[in-house]
Amino acid sequence: MAVQLDPQLMDILACPTEDHAPLRAGTSDDPDADVLTCTVCGRRYPVLDGIPVLLIEEALPPLDAVALAPLDDEASTPETAAPARPGTPAPGTDGGA
Ligand SMILES: [Zn+2]
Repeated sequence: MAVQLDPQLMDILACPTEDHAPLRAGTSDDPDADVLTCTVCGRRYPVLDGIPVLLIEEALPPLDAVALAPLDDEASTPETAAPARPGTPAPGTDGGA
């Protein structure tokens, strides 16, 4: 059973990890899998009764580590391009909101 989600919902959904990357339905091995796969870190999030469970604790580890960008490559994140100013919070902290 393929994941059937509203395309507008897919636009909104993002990986809950720091990459906040878009998700795609299924996996590279199984496009019909009931999961959403992060396009950056490759974590797979289960879709239960049509509801994506976007919790890092519930995520399945990446299927294919070879295809993934290294998670420790923080220099490639867009936030680092912004000039750092004294007194501003560190980029990447969302305050848990
Ligand atoms: Zn991710």
